[in-house]
Amino acid sequence: MIQLQNISKHYLTNNRQTIALNAVSLHVNKGEIFGIIGHSGAGKSTLLRTINLLERPSSGQVLINNTEFTQLNHTELQNKRRKIGMIFQHFNLLTSATVEKNIAFPLTLAGMPKNQIQARVNELLTLVGLEEHRNKYPSQLSGGQKQRVGIARALSADPDILLCDEATSALDPLTTNSILELLAEINRKFGITIVLITHEMHVIRTICDKVAVIHAGQIVEQGLVTEVFLKPQHRVTQEFIDELSDPIEWSNLRNQQGTSPHLVKITFLGEQTYLPLLSEIISHTGVTFSIMQGTISRLKDTPYGVLHVIFHGEERAIEQTIQELKIRGLDVEVMQ
Ligand code: ADP
Repeated sequence: MIQLQNISKHYLTNNRQTIALNAVSLHVNKGEIFGIIGHSGAGKSTLLRTINLLERPSSGQVLINNTEFTQLNHTELQNKRRKIGMIFQHFNLLTSATVEKNIAFPLTLAGMPKNQIQARVNELLTLVGLEEHRNKYPSQLSGGQKQRVGIARALSADPDILLCDEATSALDPLTTNSILELLAEINRKFGITIVLITHEMHVIRTICDKVAVIHAGQIVEQGLVTEVFLKPQHRVTQEFIDELSDPIEWSNLRNQQGTSPHLVKITFLGEQTYLPLLSEIISHTGVTFSIMQGTISRLKDTPYGVLHVIFHGEERAIEQTIQELKIRGLDVEVMQ
């Protein structure tokens, strides 16, 4: 559905060239929620804005439903853009217009008859849960409510694609989750393809199917969230994941044991997460274990667990335990 091929973008300011994007290629399938994560200045905004050509790439191709956007004339581009909604970190609402008028605005511009506009606005107000706030102005709304108006406005022309530019970065954690839930619901109900940019792994973990990690204008890693999150290959990806959990206290570990023990990372994915595999196996191999760190959570709808444990017992029994865990389909990595 969205194919970015070899996209580069250079900016020239005061005779200095910045390479914001360097030969970036991405492929987003219809109906996916695709996240792009990166630190500030990595090129996320520039990349997202090339999809609807708010930013024209210096080179490369932007194919949306097999239409090459960079080849379209102004009117053709305007028409195609109607099917691509966008929401923003700071909402970009019309401050002097009510909630209702903000949502109606793109439809009025598109020349929709008044009675149809009213019906569509009512539908959207219900979808985003703002019926009671229809006559308020943006200044009378909370951040989360403002973003709901932004979402309703972006959906007004019934788009195929929704671009989200750090949509939850200005919101508190609880509100962030409610907005992420709304985006996931919209994706499920209407099959809208969502591309979002963020600097928070929490956002990727909560709603994305796929993720691309961008660093210094290049995609350093991309794939299914379940794969990239559980088996990160690049240092930057690892840093984002580490933000979600406390570091393991290596110094304490050494002190308690006297020597450096073997630390083992066991990863559970899907239904395995809830099975008593570890306890079944150690009951006959005879080893015991200490948990150094543990997480049981979800990657979108998929349960997963990551346990860092130290096994105690005979070397051969520990080997056997690790082998049996692997045979039962768990990912086991000896860390040290
Ligand atoms: P991010 O969204 O990841 O924070 P951006 O895409 O905004 O990153 O920026 C990527 C790089 O391009 C940065 O070095 C930024 O300073 C530069 N950049 C972005 N927009 C412009 C512009 N209009 N003019 C010059 N440089 C820009």
